[in-house]
Amino acid sequence: MASVTLKEVSKSFGAFDVLRSIDLDIEDGEFVVFVGPSGCGKSTLLRVVAGLVPVSQGTVSIDGEEVTDVPASKRGVAFVFQSYALYPHMNVARNISFALETARMTKLEIGRRLAKVADMLKIGHLLDRKPKQLSGGQRQRVAIGRALVSQPKLFLFDEPLSNLDADLRMEMRFEIAKLHAEVSATMIYVTHDQTEAMTLADRIVILNHGRIEQVGTPRQLYDHPANKFVAGFLGSPRMNFASVSESQGWITGPGGFELELDQRHEKKPVTLGLRPESLEIISADSGRCIKGIFERVEDLGYEQIAYIRLSDETIWTVRSGGAIPACASGSKVGLRWKPEDIYLFDDKDQCLDV
Ligand code: ATP
Repeated sequence: MASVTLKEVSKSFGAFDVLRSIDLDIEDGEFVVFVGPSGCGKSTLLRVVAGLVPVSQGTVSIDGEEVTDVPASKRGVAFVFQSYALYPHMNVARNISFALETARMTKLEIGRRLAKVADMLKIGHLLDRKPKQLSGGQRQRVAIGRALVSQPKLFLFDEPLSNLDADLRMEMRFEIAKLHAEVSATMIYVTHDQTEAMTLADRIVILNHGRIEQVGTPRQLYDHPANKFVAGFLGSPRMNFASVSESQGWITGPGGFELELDQRHEKKPVTLGLRPESLEIISADSGRCIKGIFERVEDLGYEQIAYIRLSDETIWTVRSGGAIPACASGSKVGLRWKPEDIYLFDDKDQCLDV
């Protein structure tokens, strides 16, 4: 197990700043997920921890020891790539045990470790096969096996499941979570898939343009986003936003939205946020509601998503596990919301207490 500390880590490629002053503490045994939009720098940050990319500034420490200039092979970390990176000419057994052979481990110990890993990942029946004779899911298991067998103190995963189909991703997600519980090693995992982030992470690090937007447990980030970016990033469909204005403690917005604030803020709220599951479609002539035009509904079987137009440029989504009332496209509807479900953001997109 290992703790990881990043202090003021920056990385530039030429004039392009990919990472900007990243400070982060990862505890022993934690499962931390780096998530963010494409190009935000999450893979680069993982490679910095691995020692595969040198920092431009700042320091990296593993278990309290600075390793900023220590090469990757000496950091005691194992890396699992999206592309599996298996040796095509070696069978599964050798792919997994090769690093142990080069480390001159005894045949007995190699055999013992290989058997344990094969058992854990349920790949015992595949040991004689070459990578090209394996499915994507099996290849990824072998790649994870190769990482596991060296018993590293730190596991780094770079989008390991993104080449797999939806069912396999779910299965492997479950396996990786189980693996973490079993080996209790520190794991850092990069993904752009918020489901993976929400389900695997002890803590999520949300990155954007090379900076950390927020760090916290999945629940903290979902319920208490620091800003509009985080609020809009987690959740599917994403949080609904609308511009609002405030005057004398009253907020008004599209669709006749009105809310009296319990507390006054130094900063004026300029954006309102409501998650799709916080809204309920009701009749347009009910009293206090947001008025809109029903556009369409998507029925996914286990949930329904309705699209409601509040103005020319604002369409909100409503998500419901139950049935959404049958409405004709173009008909007027109301949206009910609970005051405690509302998020407000200031002109710097910071979340305000409601
Ligand atoms: P994705 O989800 O698309 O993989 P990411 O968040 O992992 O994205 P990175 O791979 O870390 O992003 O890349 C961040 C930015 O740095 C991108 O704009 C990328 O083009 C750039 N970049 C990465 N590696 C290099 C390099 N070796 N030279 C120049 N630019 C690079």
